[in-house]
Amino acid sequence: MKKIFVTEPSLPPLGEFIPYLEKIWESKWLTNAGPFHQQLEQELAAYLGVKHLALFTNATIALVTALQALRISGEVITTPYSFVATAHSLLWNGIKPVFVDIDPVTFNLDPKMIEAAITPQTTAIFPVHVYGTPCNVEEIERIADVYGLKVIYDAAHAFGVDYKGGSVLNYGDLSVLSFHATKVFNTFEGGAIICPDAKTKQRIDHLKNFGIADEVTVVAPGINGKMNEVQAAFGLLQLKHVDVVLERRAAIAARYRANLASVRGISVPAVADVDRLNNSYFPVFVEADYPMARDALYVYLQTKDIMSRRYFYPLISEFPMYRGLQSARRDNLPVAHHVAERVLCLPIFPDLPLEQVDRICDILRSAERA
Ligand SMILES: *Cc1c(COP(=O)(O)O)cnc(C)c1O
Repeated sequence: MKKIFVTEPSLPPLGEFIPYLEKIWESKWLTNAGPFHQQLEQELAAYLGVKHLALFTNATIALVTALQALRISGEVITTPYSFVATAHSLLWNGIKPVFVDIDPVTFNLDPKMIEAAITPQTTAIFPVHVYGTPCNVEEIERIADVYGLKVIYDAAHAFGVDYKGGSVLNYGDLSVLSFHATKVFNTFEGGAIICPDAKTKQRIDHLKNFGIADEVTVVAPGINGKMNEVQAAFGLLQLKHVDVVLERRAAIAARYRANLASVRGISVPAVADVDRLNNSYFPVFVEADYPMARDALYVYLQTKDIMSRRYFYPLISEFPMYRGLQSARRDNLPVAHHVAERVLCLPIFPDLPLEQVDRICDILRSAERA
């Protein structure tokens, strides 16, 4: 049987992409804010319901640039429960990550733990909307206002998530999306910074193009973070299909929920209280009363050609470049460790047939007889 991966990129019919490529060949405009790049910035901002959006060649360069754009330095409060790129983007800026524990319900930075981690060196809070579940944005904003801190969201998982009547990407000073192949919306590789005003967007646009303002003016030591025309064209085509993608994901998540409700020892997180979800991941938790430990189940599923993933295990704070930090100590992060040791993300992607979802759930239900 064909292996089922935790995710599979959504690809529109190849034929639909050819006319875009023909246009690029005709114009010979391959990169540097070309027509598809400009069009995708506009269409994405309109689709997502955000004011300004700057495209990037990937989200990691966008995270590094977002920190530069706001001149963040010193110490930054962040979560250990994320993909390593979150904390790596701090190290690439010479910033010290300060890990704070997560909330056991949202798996996001726990606002109650933030204030105790603030020092005179703290300049920003750097949370992640894990699995597309919004952080406690109101409380984070309140703390940031009291202490004069910037807020940058790693919103790599939060494409299309609406919260309290608008995009969750409108919270904080900046938000960063990823369009990597494994994400809900992909441009093969890609990303974007969402920002509230034209002046900040201009600074970000300079920074992603070597700091070049015009032919003879370089205003900052920028990087090369530009999205090229092939990526942007692919994004425009993907955008035409994204509503169907989100509907398919919702149907798969609903099927998992219905099936797994009766499986003892497998707990499914509550549906987030939002206006629109993206079902970017389907995490479950392997509890103590399940007949197998989490890692045994992970291996057992592999023997059935089901490639689940332990997102996020190990915690970022466990990797060698972080584990020496005071804030990386296990006793500082009890909830994050507890969650990371039980989590298993099950396959979810638009082309996953519902019969396969049923089969995966049957395997979970019958694992005790394995
Ligand atoms: C995918 C991801 C990134 C990195 O995105 P790239 O586009 O691959 O650079 C950063 N943070 C989180 C939380 C992610 O899931």
